[in-house]
Amino acid sequence: MKNLAEILERINKARIGEEVKLIAVSKNVTTKEVLELFNQGQMSFGENRVQELKNKKEILSNLPIDWHFLGRLQSNKINQLISLRPTLWQSCDSLKSALEVDKRLDYNLDCLLQINSANEDTKSGISADSAIDEFLSIKENCKFLRPIGVMSIGAHVDDMKTIERSFEITHKIYENLKAHGAKICSMGMSSDFELAIKCGSNMVRLGSILY
Ligand SMILES: *Cc1c(COP(=O)(O)O)cnc(C)c1O
Repeated sequence: MKNLAEILERINKARIGEEVKLIAVSKNVTTKEVLELFNQGQMSFGENRVQELKNKKEILSNLPIDWHFLGRLQSNKINQLISLRPTLWQSCDSLKSALEVDKRLDYNLDCLLQINSANEDTKSGISADSAIDEFLSIKENCKFLRPIGVMSIGAHVDDMKTIERSFEITHKIYENLKAHGAKICSMGMSSDFELAIKCGSNMVRLGSILY
């Protein structure tokens, strides 16, 4: 296990302005490793499978951990996700899935709109061109689901310029949505978080680098 303080220092060094929140992605590690990070002061964790989120949340239910859901949401898992009351659903990728979740909710749930800013076929997320309209439609049409920002995965390439471009596209959308309640710009993973922060991210999701 790496030193959490060291990673937090790198996050702080990269930032230009506001604070950047770290979400520790625990999808490939055990609850023991989550506990070790928690004991170093990390409170927010992310999972990309509903079942795994449920397992870890139940085992660690006595701890005040914020759980974020970051993965593709299959429609047969919606009820389960809702019953887990995640702190933030980061991977809402369309008005359609927003409505499906919203009609089953009976409490307010915050979400981020996932944007496929690198336009990659393999990735979920709304295209950059429709992101603003989609965000506004979700806001207008959902009773309990509240869009509070955007999430994106950087372009899956080696060229840093291309990755930077994808972060800039997401950040521009975020800037435009601030007037409509957007507060979170979630971008940056282990391989590109410093670049994402330079491009205006205020939430990074780190997995492999932490363990
Ligand atoms: C796995 C995952 C991460 C963390 O990725 P690392 O490269 O391990 O830091 C971040 N965001 C999402 C959506 C993920 O699925």
